[in-house]
Amino acid sequence: MARHIKCGKLFTGLGEGAETGQTLVMDGETIRFAGPSADAPPPGPGDEVIDHSGHFVLPGLIDMHVHLSYGNAKTEEDIDLYAPLEFRALRGLEAAQRVLLAGFTTMADPTTTGHVSLAIRDAIDAGLFAGPRISTSGRQITNRQGLSDWYPSWIGVPETSIGVLCRDAAEGIAEIRLEVKDGVDFIKVAIDGDSMNPATDVLVAGYDQDEMSAMVREAHRLGKKVVVHARGAEGVLYSARAGADVIFHAAWMDDEGLEAVVENGCALCPTLSLVVNDIDFTRPGDGCYPDFPDAHKRELESACISLPKARAAGVKFMLGTDSGFAVTPYGEWHARELEHYVKYLGFSPVEALKCATVNNAEFVREEGRVGALEAGRLADILVVDGDPLADISVLQDRSRIREIIKGGETVKLEINKDARRLRSEFSYDLWSDVYTQERIGEIGMAPNLNQRAAE
Ligand SMILES: [Zn+2]
Repeated sequence: MARHIKCGKLFTGLGEGAETGQTLVMDGETIRFAGPSADAPPPGPGDEVIDHSGHFVLPGLIDMHVHLSYGNAKTEEDIDLYAPLEFRALRGLEAAQRVLLAGFTTMADPTTTGHVSLAIRDAIDAGLFAGPRISTSGRQITNRQGLSDWYPSWIGVPETSIGVLCRDAAEGIAEIRLEVKDGVDFIKVAIDGDSMNPATDVLVAGYDQDEMSAMVREAHRLGKKVVVHARGAEGVLYSARAGADVIFHAAWMDDEGLEAVVENGCALCPTLSLVVNDIDFTRPGDGCYPDFPDAHKRELESACISLPKARAAGVKFMLGTDSGFAVTPYGEWHARELEHYVKYLGFSPVEALKCATVNNAEFVREEGRVGALEAGRLADILVVDGDPLADISVLQDRSRIREIIKGGETVKLEINKDARRLRSEFSYDLWSDVYTQERIGEIGMAPNLNQRAAE
């Protein structure tokens, strides 16, 4: 039995816009036909005809940067320490379902803990649970000046961390071999740090050129692509010269770095969502206010200069969101990244949509089999009420989603609205202030000293 969709407008991901008068035909999990209704094979007896003639039909979206194991973390301790790995896997499965219900039928997880996201991927593959298609790395490979070595040296990087400390290329290569043995889809290296860590705010690279090149070479030799977290100029340059497949962030990329990116055909994935959400949503009273939003304002300013240059130079852009933090919760803001590309980086809505579909599809393990609507590809389809080419923000409105199809089947899935978070998932912040006599005086609270004396 085939399924025929009459499309109001069809964006295949391959042309330069959306077409009217189009029909999609699915046979099992694949697309048999996508094109003008006049040329479509007529529905046979028993075939299903779905009328989306009032709707916009596009490929299921792809998010390159979702951290399923993080649990909408408020702190780095939440990411690394509190919930047991087994709980993180169960919690992450629900997170993956939220991603799918936002219209993202495929995602990549660059950095997990233990084998959490591998287990989620496999459970969905095995048909045990509904969820998006997942490609995942293992723990991120990092050094003193990278991410994850963010606790004092007398604590170190714990086993349950999202990172593994590799102090040189030899340790990195040993870790790459282990992760490949354990079944990762790609390798993630954090070559530099984050604006929020004062110790790494200078954003020097944690590996030199030789070390980085050796690790990328080994990953490629073992058949795995490499994603690098690189915010600073040096990290971008070394990653690009090493031939990394995708560079995340790249806000402080300089002209030398851009040249190396172009020369080596690296893709960029800016991931503005964490930065912009932090600027837009963080409030006084949040622990990171105002330092982190201020740092992210500087990062966004720099990104608005460096990244449009890369777009003009013809660099391939992919699209991801860094979902999994309290400021980028699962299922909520994924499609807002497309709006950021239009608003901050000068992309047209068509270009932004291509980043989130055909471009991202080149990275994930279904390489070239998702991300576009043409005969032979997997039937992963999103149907919305509205025209994202006229207003890219309509994709953020989940009430406009009319149908999500994965592998030819309509996604029927509901998140438990009463699902709650456990106290034990988060680090303890018992008080937000230190209550000295002076501070109590400032706040204007009168301690009941008399009563205490009388007791
Ligand atoms: Zn990330």
